[in-house]
Amino acid sequence: MQGNRSFVLVSRPRGIPSESDFAIRSHRIPEIGKGEFLIRNHYASIDPAMRGWLDDRPSYLPPVAIGDAMRAGTIGRVVASKAPGIKLGDWVKGINAIQDYSVGRTGDSNRPVDPGRVTSMSHYISVAGGAGLTAHVGINRILRPVAGETLLVSSAAGAVGAVAGQLARLAGARVIGIAGGADKCRRLTAELGFDHAIDHRGKDADTLLAELVAAAPEGLDMVFENVGGPGLDAALLHLKKHARIALCGLISEYNSPPIGARNLKELVFRSATMRGFTLLDFPEEIAPATGQLIDLANSGAIICAEQIEHGLDNAFQTFLNLFVGGTSGKLILKLI
Ligand code: NDP
Repeated sequence: MQGNRSFVLVSRPRGIPSESDFAIRSHRIPEIGKGEFLIRNHYASIDPAMRGWLDDRPSYLPPVAIGDAMRAGTIGRVVASKAPGIKLGDWVKGINAIQDYSVGRTGDSNRPVDPGRVTSMSHYISVAGGAGLTAHVGINRILRPVAGETLLVSSAAGAVGAVAGQLARLAGARVIGIAGGADKCRRLTAELGFDHAIDHRGKDADTLLAELVAAAPEGLDMVFENVGGPGLDAALLHLKKHARIALCGLISEYNSPPIGARNLKELVFRSATMRGFTLLDFPEEIAPATGQLIDLANSGAIICAEQIEHGLDNAFQTFLNLFVGGTSGKLILKLI
């Protein structure tokens, strides 16, 4: 019988994950019972949040247990079903694992998605997945840009940042992106419509501040923060009065002890607001925002930036690339 290969956590990493923290293991393809369906996974979303699930402490989801397949958002096709309302051949999106086959159950996270609505099924992971939806709520529910305001986005060429910047541009904001390397910066302005890009590689907070002042002499109305570190330190020194910061993530701290923001007192001086959020805070936005994001991508109003890697054997290297600047757009592992 054909096996079910999984990308399994075998030890908890300290610092940057190592290949030896994971293994590819093969088991029998599971049998399904009443109310269950078997999913052949086609795409897995590879996300910075996975790093948090490797530690033995709860975040917004529990840790992945040693010996378990690595949790991931997936898109797959139903190959067997004993669940009412789920048919053979249906496409489903849900939180499953990086493995060939997963079992879905009535009432779990898996939901059918319409292949006719998108030009690529991968869009249900990228622009219409967690990344795009997080950008959507961060822009429309937290920052609420007004035409003419200036927004700074960090990790701007990444999965969330690229969509956040484009949505803010559509709302009439002027958008500055911070990204690593000349290629990503060129992409931001030449392809994604950002007004200005700043390359952060090798630069300290003072240098980044000088570049920010040159790019936006009037100051920042909004910051969409994905990274932390020197970029955030610089941004805090260049806020306008009553500026808003949407704290989406701090990827620079995921593999090391917290660095901390150095200039938080600026929030006081400038009567500014910093608000952390997750997509889970806005469940009512998920269905309408998914529809809006698909429409924007289909019409070309938003460029759907994706980096698709191939094969379960490539899972570790693909994941690692998130932390070494080796990704541009939404990172996706195509399994079949
Ligand atoms: P990205 O596609 O932005 O992730 C990878 C990129 O982050 C890298 O290519 C690199 O880009 C940048 N990066 C990594 N390490 C560092 C570092 N030490 N210093 C500076 N830059 C670094 O990932 P996502 O778009 O999926 O996620 C972006 C952020 O949003 C993360 O912090 C994530 O945890 C958070 N997030 C939060 C959610 C929420 O609900 N709050 C949901 C989804 C994501 P570069 O080369 O340009 O520096």
